[in-house]
Amino acid sequence: MAPDTDIKFVKGIGPARALLLRDELGIKTVGDLLRHYPSHYVDRSAIYRISDLRGSDLPAAVQLRGRFISMSVQGEGRKSRLVAIFSDGTGTIETVWFQRPRQVARALNPDVTYVIFGKPVEFNRHWSIAHPEVDTESAATDRKGLRGVYPLTEKLRSRGISSRLIAAWIDEILPITASIPEVLPHEITAGLSLMPLDQTLRAIHRPANMLELDKARYRLKFEELFFLELNILRYSRSRNKALRGHIFGKIGQYFHDFYSQCLPFELTGAQKRVIKEIRADMATGRQMNRLLQGDVGSGKTLVALLCMLIAIDNGTQACLMAPTEILATQHFQTISGLAAAIGVNIRLLTGSTPARERGEIHAGLLDGTIHILIGTHAVIEDTVRFANLGFVVIDEQHRFGVAQRAKLWNKAAIAPHVLVMTATPIPRTLAMTVYGDLDVSIIDELPPGRKPVLTLLRYDSQRQSVYDGIHRQLLQGRQVYIVYPLIDENEKSDLHSLEQGYEFISHLFKDFKVAYVHGRMKPAEKDRQMTRFASGDAHILVATTVIEVGVNVPNASVMVIENAERFGLSQLHQLRGRVGRGADQSYCILMSKESIGKDTRRRLEVMTSTTDGFIVSEADLKLRGPGDIEGTMQSGLPIELKMASLVTDGPVIESARAAAIGLLDSDPSLGSHPAVRARWAELFAGTQDWARIS
Ligand code: ADP
Ligand code: MG
Repeated sequence: MAPDTDIKFVKGIGPARALLLRDELGIKTVGDLLRHYPSHYVDRSAIYRISDLRGSDLPAAVQLRGRFISMSVQGEGRKSRLVAIFSDGTGTIETVWFQRPRQVARALNPDVTYVIFGKPVEFNRHWSIAHPEVDTESAATDRKGLRGVYPLTEKLRSRGISSRLIAAWIDEILPITASIPEVLPHEITAGLSLMPLDQTLRAIHRPANMLELDKARYRLKFEELFFLELNILRYSRSRNKALRGHIFGKIGQYFHDFYSQCLPFELTGAQKRVIKEIRADMATGRQMNRLLQGDVGSGKTLVALLCMLIAIDNGTQACLMAPTEILATQHFQTISGLAAAIGVNIRLLTGSTPARERGEIHAGLLDGTIHILIGTHAVIEDTVRFANLGFVVIDEQHRFGVAQRAKLWNKAAIAPHVLVMTATPIPRTLAMTVYGDLDVSIIDELPPGRKPVLTLLRYDSQRQSVYDGIHRQLLQGRQVYIVYPLIDENEKSDLHSLEQGYEFISHLFKDFKVAYVHGRMKPAEKDRQMTRFASGDAHILVATTVIEVGVNVPNASVMVIENAERFGLSQLHQLRGRVGRGADQSYCILMSKESIGKDTRRRLEVMTSTTDGFIVSEADLKLRGPGDIEGTMQSGLPIELKMASLVTDGPVIESARAAAIGLLDSDPSLGSHPAVRARWAELFAGTQDWARIS
């Protein structure tokens, strides 16, 4: 057996299961199976007492020793299940099997002492374990120590494939690790005392102890990040060499006219500094790749517009890409409004642009009469071609990965300068890992005269006073957002509460007009409603989180968030950023039901105690754990990380990056490191062909 042997040849797998493993987990070869790591480990030395089962600090799974004192198969046919009561002398627990109940019942012997293992759940003050692993005592002794628990899918589970079965297959192939070649260069493994690959693979599946496991994990994290960095560095290095950028040497008529005639206010110091940085960068002849970080409301749009005007002054076209239709539309309106007087030709392209208009836009882009194109993902479609695209702005970067950006570069002979705008502060190394070689500019100052939004936590019992407050603001001519959670657009109950809320609010504030937006509306209707609110025609906007990012209505002074306990912190911060955009005192009211847990309350209190986006995102990381943020970040990567975390493995990223830089410095083509090259090619096969872009 070799690493590239088909897994169907592994004892116990066979053709049918091989297909399942391929479809569900992408495992095709013995090598793939070896790279399917446990998601966590359980200590199988410890035996729990049933009488000690209580509370919330139980491990994910426990091991119990005792006997089955009663067994009964309940229900009929496909719905039948085995319910067996297990006793260890300190108490009893229910165990349940939904699959093959009769066979399981026959196999269990009431006179034998077993060790069972599984996840206990409490229901109506009774403990129960579904589908525990069952071992005789002697088998359990063999199993002592740290045991890996393998990730599975529902489908695999339903086909009877368990973590234990996977462990057995892996035991079967573990001997071949000795023949798997090391993929990291010797100078790196030796220099950093990393565990060699063969030893690592054995240790990750069958760790002798915690120390060994930690070393194996570190090595695998390092390896993943090393190849990720290598990929990004190879690409950015060849790009730096080969990619010349447009030279935007001058400031011309468009910029001047706008600056002297249209600028509605003095730029903040931070805006001026950032524009200077961008200008300097765009004049070097090297293609710019820059991340613009600035908290919500810091005025990134204006910076983007001024830079686009520089691009136009230098004879090129500009393009601004936003993650949603509403945002793109709003950018279009804001920017058209600001720049109308100076005769810039700006067009909007989204998924719902009618075919006729689309054709017109395509033509205008090709003959160069359109100066600025604003839109959604629609702008990166292959049919969209520019005469001379020189500058690209991407708003709210986290939804656009490197590959999508690369598509934009493909649209021009000379790669356009790229400015990525985000309100989410992320560390620099991380930014470079996810987005390639980026320079960073930061707007660390809000426009003057802003009063921090006053954030209040209110419960259902205080509703009346909240409505009174809203009424006072409406009477002063202010506008109000009321946001409902709609986590899944298909959730009927959410939509229902939104509709009810809309009716209730319309009724309560009869003298005012209420607009209404949710994600399932037709885009045209969505637009119509948003426009009613943006233009001031409607006073209240009842909406779902479709308004989360970017929407700008400075006259709105109140943001009410219903079921605030169901939102994440960064989402709440984004929503809050919709108010406090004018000079008046604004309010963000977090409505919550009375009975919320300690963690939820702490989360909401972060919001009431600070308006600083940096503090909010740090707290978010701490409270929510890295999971969600990780997902967002990872979506920008060309490969999936199995072991390393972009959020919590900062030091490993640094070290892997340094090692990758060292290697490329000494061997740019990897010519003397064929094993590294081969692994790199294997990992990134099927992802963007970086070499071709540069
Ligand atoms: P974000 O950085 O969140 O994208 P926007 O660009 O939407 O922020 O700007 C937020 C609000 O601040 C807008 O109403 C914009 O017109 C206003 N604004 C931007 N720059 C300034 C400035 N220098 N002085 C006053 N208001 C500004
Ligand atoms: Mg914005």
